[in-house]
Amino acid sequence: MQTGLSANAALRTILDATPVAPSETLPVSAAVGRVLAAAVESTRRLPPHDNSAMDGYAVRSADLRHASADRPGELRVAYEIPAGGRADRAIEPGEAARILTGGPVPPGADAVVRQEDTAIDGDRLRVFVEPAPREHIRDAGEDVEVGMLAALGRSVVSVHQRPRVAILSTGDELVEPDQPVDGGRIVSSNSYSLAAQCRELGAEPIYLGIARDTPIAVEELFRGGLSADFLVSSAGVSVGDRDFVRGVLEKLGCALVFWGVNIKPGYPLAFGRFEHGGPLVFGLPGNPVSAMMTFEQFVRPALRKRMGHRCLFRPTLRATLTEDLRKKAGRLHFVRVELERRDGGVFARSTGNQSSGVLRSMTRAQGLLIFPAEETAIVAGETATVQVIDPEFFASDSSGF
Ligand code: AMP
Ligand code: MG
Repeated sequence: MQTGLSANAALRTILDATPVAPSETLPVSAAVGRVLAAAVESTRRLPPHDNSAMDGYAVRSADLRHASADRPGELRVAYEIPAGGRADRAIEPGEAARILTGGPVPPGADAVVRQEDTAIDGDRLRVFVEPAPREHIRDAGEDVEVGMLAALGRSVVSVHQRPRVAILSTGDELVEPDQPVDGGRIVSSNSYSLAAQCRELGAEPIYLGIARDTPIAVEELFRGGLSADFLVSSAGVSVGDRDFVRGVLEKLGCALVFWGVNIKPGYPLAFGRFEHGGPLVFGLPGNPVSAMMTFEQFVRPALRKRMGHRCLFRPTLRATLTEDLRKKAGRLHFVRVELERRDGGVFARSTGNQSSGVLRSMTRAQGLLIFPAEETAIVAGETATVQVIDPEFFASDSSGF
């Protein structure tokens, strides 16, 4: 087992161990948010023919070399393509065909000139521009990548399965939210935070409950999660004498790959896997902020990989600090920040008390600022990389038009 890994090494180890989920077949309407497991090959072309993007004339571009307002090209209008109809012969050199938007481009034509760039007198057409080949022509099949599955006549598609994530908590002090919190009891909020984080990214949480701090209780609860794709526990992974998670995992045949990542919050993160099938196991720290942060940084990208996504991470931006940040060298810090768009830039300010027990610092955070492991100060006016974790940051109070 490795220990004291860098954030990057831990992430790489986890992603290397994460297989992409097998596929399942779903009705198109149920596949929203899923990732296609196989390319959808079109049996139709959409649109079915090359068609005109303008009202005007279908032409052979070679006939109009150097045509201009001063020296218009001269063509004869051979026929008109009726709306919804087809040309019954190709246009020949020196000819044009009248065409409307959406009309099928006739054989022989390789460009459309706009009506505004022409003058017509009987069947004699003068053209004041030199069209480029393919100009104002929409290609047959051009819409296909847009994913119009239904328009392609597909009622079912093959997509990656939704990962099932077993979630459990450990701790004698923990109670469910509807139970009394006297005598030093605390609500097991992690179960709910982690389930919500799963749902937000499209994975399916399965809540297993709370295990008391005994090896037997912890083992029993973990067994209930062995058929899931991911098993995520919180607390009980430190080095205290009531921390049984690591021992139980080993007993169940789960090889611990690493324990301890040089980050704050979230150092005591454990990751394990089974040799022959079984879930990927994440033993998250118990502190509410640490649990959410380690899920965000390590479990979420792995779940996205499993779901078939290619882009696994949150959008990042560079933001200017409005205050000084200082720390010791050694661990990468994730600083919870609020973001403000101002003067064409983005400004970041810490959400206040960054203690890993203060959940407010997390709920108010729009971004997580990366304070690199070996740096000791970022001062006001300097910029840093921020992961934007609040999609509402990109919402706007204006339509833009
Ligand atoms: P531990 O890792 O067991 O020492 O727990 C670290 C801290 O996290 C303690 O203050 C626990 O009370 C707290 N904690 C553990 N599990 C949870 C949970 N499920 N929800 C909220 N807080 C928790
Ligand atoms: Mg505990």
